[in-house]
Amino acid sequence: MRKVVLLGATGSIGRQTIDIIEQYPDRFKLVAVTANKSIDVMKDIVKRHACLYVAMDNQYRDAFETAQFFDLKALKEFIQAVPEDVVVVNALVGSVGLVPTIAAIERGFDVLLANKETLVVGGEIIKPLLNTSVSTLIPIDSEHSALAQCLKGSNIDDVEKLVITASGGSFRHLKKDELNHVTVQDALNHPNWAMGKKITIDSATMMNKVFEIIEAHYLFDLPYDSIEAVLHPESLVHGMVHYKDGNILMHVGPADMHIPILTALQGEERLPYRSIFDITKIKSLHFEAIDPIRYSLFDLGIAVARKKGLHTVTLNAANEEAVELFLNGTIDFITIETIIADCLYYFDNGYDVTLEAILDLDQKVRNYIKTKYVDGE
Ligand code: MG
Repeated sequence: MRKVVLLGATGSIGRQTIDIIEQYPDRFKLVAVTANKSIDVMKDIVKRHACLYVAMDNQYRDAFETAQFFDLKALKEFIQAVPEDVVVVNALVGSVGLVPTIAAIERGFDVLLANKETLVVGGEIIKPLLNTSVSTLIPIDSEHSALAQCLKGSNIDDVEKLVITASGGSFRHLKKDELNHVTVQDALNHPNWAMGKKITIDSATMMNKVFEIIEAHYLFDLPYDSIEAVLHPESLVHGMVHYKDGNILMHVGPADMHIPILTALQGEERLPYRSIFDITKIKSLHFEAIDPIRYSLFDLGIAVARKKGLHTVTLNAANEEAVELFLNGTIDFITIETIIADCLYYFDNGYDVTLEAILDLDQKVRNYIKTKYVDGE
């Protein structure tokens, strides 16, 4: 029986994780959950699974009689309190996932990571931590789940390159100058995947693929020159590994996040999951290079990733804030890019990467955006 701590229980990945846990009640037991909002859903989850630990906003402190309550700001203490033998599913959105990931690694827990921003902002400090811990990072992201399976049993030194695929997002049929008047509703209408709001926007800007290349860099220990992304509108091939001997292993499957979640949770097993996939219905698969003019944030993001240091902290914080401003109607879609470029230019990012420096810069970037783009200068 694997005991599961689920960070972000009411989001898209969180809900699908609970689906899998409920499909295998003899294999998995949900013991601890966190959520930002959705109090009624959370009360139901805690009751149904008899969870012993819950973290939410402090206003809900008295809503849970049978579970030990933690404020959402105290995720480190929350992780420090859970039982010894758990795995942590990190399905949080944004850099808020970093601190509980570090706390989990420090306790030696395996972390099943859907929260890619953890590695985007903290990869430089997570890697050395993993080297001194028994814990493993296991990807839940579909592309990285695919790559991990294609890499299984192989030596990373034998890999020529990794390739992840990009759907192109909600606006892939539009030209760059047609992006001026798109709406939030259009942006949230992803052609292939049903996902949370933030990642759906990241998918439309191609920032999601920047983050996934950074994620692959830290997960698989390969230089950026050896990791590529290609457009693949069908979203059926999720990842490819090119080996130096000329063999290429490709992972194919339906666009259903339950599968990478189950893959991460099950460990060495192959538990049955209903999957409707008829290869005879697939008439063609398309692949093409990502157009750097059309998806200009992609090239910018990769250049920032290569700089390392604290640059990716600015990139991520600016992106999180800009996406939120777009979603709440404060800015246009194309202004997301303006804000990110502004922040990268404005901040002196530095190379001394510590948790304190990350959290400090993250907050400064958010404050800068609020002052300049929300309150007005
Ligand atoms: Mg992905």
